[in-house]
Amino acid sequence: MRARTLIVALLGAVIVAASPPRHAVAAPAAQPETYAQFAAGATVQHGIFTILRKDGEVYVDLSPQQLNTDYLETIVPGNGMGADFIVWGNTDHLPAMLMRFERAGDGIAIVWPNTSFVAPHDPPETIGIRRNFPQSVVGIGKIVAEDANHIVFDASPLFRDSLDMAHIINGSLGTTPKSAYHLDLSRTYFGATKAFPENVVIDVNQLWATDAPHVAPDTAPDARSIQMRIVYNFAQLPHDHYRPRYADDRVGIYDDIYMDFAPSRDQAPSRYLRYLVRWNFAPADPNKPSRATHPMVFYLSNTIPVAYRPAITAAVLRWNRAFEKIGILDAIQVKPQPNDPNWDPDDIRYNVLRWVTEEQPSFGADSQTLFDPRTGEEFRTGILISADSARFAAQAWRDYVDPVRYGRDTDPVPAWFIYDSFQAEIMHETGHNLGMQHNFIGSMAYTAKELQS
Ligand SMILES: [Zn+2]
Repeated sequence: MRARTLIVALLGAVIVAASPPRHAVAAPAAQPETYAQFAAGATVQHGIFTILRKDGEVYVDLSPQQLNTDYLETIVPGNGMGADFIVWGNTDHLPAMLMRFERAGDGIAIVWPNTSFVAPHDPPETIGIRRNFPQSVVGIGKIVAEDANHIVFDASPLFRDSLDMAHIINGSLGTTPKSAYHLDLSRTYFGATKAFPENVVIDVNQLWATDAPHVAPDTAPDARSIQMRIVYNFAQLPHDHYRPRYADDRVGIYDDIYMDFAPSRDQAPSRYLRYLVRWNFAPADPNKPSRATHPMVFYLSNTIPVAYRPAITAAVLRWNRAFEKIGILDAIQVKPQPNDPNWDPDDIRYNVLRWVTEEQPSFGADSQTLFDPRTGEEFRTGILISADSARFAAQAWRDYVDPVRYGRDTDPVPAWFIYDSFQAEIMHETGHNLGMQHNFIGSMAYTAKELQS
């Protein structure tokens, strides 16, 4: 990749005037161009950051004020492998990260600052968090053009394996060091880019290769060559006046954990500070039942078979009964996937219910939750639903409900049983989306009255 970056940067100096074939000319190392020179001939997409596409490459255009500023970054696989729980849109591999752009000589470093060790309200020179804990550098993009209002850098550091697909793929397949898949940069290239006022989406088509043909799943046309679309989202931090809430062991809500080194914490039994992971639900009028100001809106991916959409929709919406009791109406909403080419299920603005097809099912359904690491505020949820969910239900009918007639596969499983099975499964996963863990002994350890104390 280093070589590729260099070639691209060198080419940048000569492309504007002559537009020579890509990779055909190597010019001497040059100063960055002016923005006007570089932007001429580029496709420009305006959003929170401007994206420039030129000669097959992607560049990010920052204003100087955007340096050293915190943003959110998420990375997910945009396609599955059809097996081994490597599925599209899975947010479980990497939590939402804080991200900054920092100047690094003639490049821009994409940095993940450390968010797990904090000392709120104390000046950094007192506690020295930044001296005592490291940050991580995702990559450095060469600056190719610059003026007073623009810093344009090469986005090819996004080619590298920030999501750790190497571990995901090789861990799932159980490869040996000899048969392990590796990232082949010579067959890795940019996909779609989208820019919006508060986020941008950049796709990278990574190629995962191995020389050992027989270790692989038989779900790719050539098992030695697996393309994984990796979707990067960069977004403005949430700014909706969210107030974090402390976690409480008596209620099984997921938590967002810090180590807090503030001296005010020295008297506490532990330095661990835990915030609830939750959606910012509130009624429009706190004095009477009213609509949610910030509802959790789910989109039904058009990958979901039409026959199952009513059951899945009803299951998600059933949670509204709980919110009605605290005066919040229409807290949860379900909409069909818009018929809009700009709508992308991997755009982090959308909570998506999606259908997962695998050669051998590795799960039934899985909740997907991303939250602001500073506060625990959820900003994106969703559910992966295995295409085998209905088959599992039919099998349950045959094995447990009507076992006497086992083997008589010609008997139809009642439609209501399939419907109810989706209800149970999707309501369960929606509960996770709302921040709830499995109940374990929680429902027996305390009465409702005790919980309310
Ligand atoms: Zn569960």
